[in-house]
Amino acid sequence: MHYLDNAATTPVREDAAKAAYEAMISGWGNPSARYALGAEMTAKVKFWRQDVAKALGCGEDELIFTSCGTESDNWAIKAAVEINKRKGKHIITTAIEHSAVLEPCRALEKQGYEVTYLQPDREGNITVEQVEQALREDTVLVSMMLVNNEVGSVLPVAEVSKLLKRKKSSALLHCDAVQAFLKVEFTPAKLGVDFLAISAHKIHAPKGIGAMYVRKGVKLPPMILGGGQESGLRSGTEATAQMAAFAVAAREGKAHLKENLARIAELNAYARQELSEKVPGLQLLTEGGAPHILPVSLVGYKSEVVVRFLSDMGIYVSSGSACHKGKPSHVYAALKLSKPVQDGVLRVSFSWDTTREDVDALVSGLQAAQKQLFTSLS
Ligand code: PLP
Repeated sequence: MHYLDNAATTPVREDAAKAAYEAMISGWGNPSARYALGAEMTAKVKFWRQDVAKALGCGEDELIFTSCGTESDNWAIKAAVEINKRKGKHIITTAIEHSAVLEPCRALEKQGYEVTYLQPDREGNITVEQVEQALREDTVLVSMMLVNNEVGSVLPVAEVSKLLKRKKSSALLHCDAVQAFLKVEFTPAKLGVDFLAISAHKIHAPKGIGAMYVRKGVKLPPMILGGGQESGLRSGTEATAQMAAFAVAAREGKAHLKENLARIAELNAYARQELSEKVPGLQLLTEGGAPHILPVSLVGYKSEVVVRFLSDMGIYVSSGSACHKGKPSHVYAALKLSKPVQDGVLRVSFSWDTTREDVDALVSGLQAAQKQLFTSLS
C-alpha cells in the first residue's frame, strides 16, 4: 500500500497504540475514584496532558482534552461569541476554513451574527490587510486556520494577532491548527491566539481525541456539565486510552520534529520534480505552503475517477477534503481555478513515514491513469 492521504488521517504509530492498550489493560481505573487506582490514573492524566502541552508549547493548565478537532473549533467559536456577547455581532473568518469552523459560523449567522468570509488568492493565501479592511468596532471573533487542509497555504495568524492588539480590538482570535500541529513550527503564545484547536489522528494517534488551547486569563464557558472533569469545563470520564496514545504521539513527534520536517520538505521537493517531469499535463497548484500538503491537478481528468483508479492499485490520495464526501470542495472553488483544473484536483499529503517509493508509485499510477483513462474516455 502507498498511503499519500495523511491530511485526512495518519496511521497510528505502534508505540502510541501500545500505550492505549496498556491504558485499557492495566491502567483502566477511573481517575475520579477515591482509592489508589484512581489516584494513579489522575497522575497519568496529568502526565499525558503535560506531554501534549509541551509538544504544543503551552502550559498544562492551558490545554483541555476534547473528542476531536471539530469539537475544539466549535467550542472556541461558541465561547468567543459568548464571552464577547455585549461587544457586537460581527465575525471574520476565511472562505477556506474547514467545515468545523464554517458550520458554527453559519449557525451563528442564523442567530443574527454577520460573518465576513475572506477570499483567498489562487494559492489559498489570505493577507493581514484583508483582515484589517474587514475589522470593525463590533468584531467579536476572528477565526483563521494556520495551515489549510486542502492547499497547504499558511495563513498570517501571528500578524492578525498583532493587528488586533494594535487596533485595540476586543475581538478574540481562534486558530484551527489541526493541520499545523507538528507539521509547521509554532506555539500558541508566538501566534498570540486566545483559542487553538488540534487533533490527535493527524499526528499518528487514534481518532476520538483532540485538544483545545485556551490562553490563560480567558474565561471559558463550560462545554459539558457533569462530574467536573477537565477543570469543570468538559465533564465526562476521561478517554484515558486515547490520551495515553495522544501523549506518546505528541512527545515523539515533538522530539523528532526538526528531522521530520526536513524529511517531509525533501519529499515534497522530490514529488514536485518527479510529478512535473514525468506526468505530462499535471499542474502543481502551489509553489510553497506547508510541505506535507501538495495539491496538484491532472487537468482534463475527473479526480474522483483518478482516485478510484489509483486506489485499485493500492495508492491512496484524495480528491479534496475527506469530509466533503463527494461534494465539490469549497476550498478549490474559492481558488477560482478553471473548470478542467478544478475537476482534476488531487491532494497528495505526506507524513514522516512516507517514502520516495510511495511517490514513485504515485508517478507510475498517474502515468497509467493517463493512458488507461484516456482510452476509456475516447
Ligand atoms: N480542521 C482542519 C483544518 C482539518 O483538516 C480537520 C480534519 O480534517 C478538522 C478541523 C477536524 O478535525 P477532526 O477530524 O479531529 O474532527
